[in-house]
Amino acid sequence: MICPKCEYQQYQERIYTNQGAVSLWKCIACGNATDEVILRNRERQNNNERETRPRLFPLPRRQARVKAKSKVSQAV
Ligand SMILES: [Zn+2]
Repeated sequence: MICPKCEYQQYQERIYTNQGAVSLWKCIACGNATDEVILRNRERQNNNERETRPRLFPLPRRQARVKAKSKVSQAV
């Protein structure tokens, strides 16, 4: 399996817990870990099956910040 972050090779690691064994993929280079649940959730997101919930906080106002910075650069 190939790492989605750095596209390096991943190896499979098996972790044993009280509730059973979990196998996950770990990247040799960046240490990114991917398990079956993460893969399933990513597939769901790609298929747009994610629940649509109302946003709790508004998106940051990037445009306002950019305008403030450009004013400073004009003064200099
Ligand atoms: Zn990686």
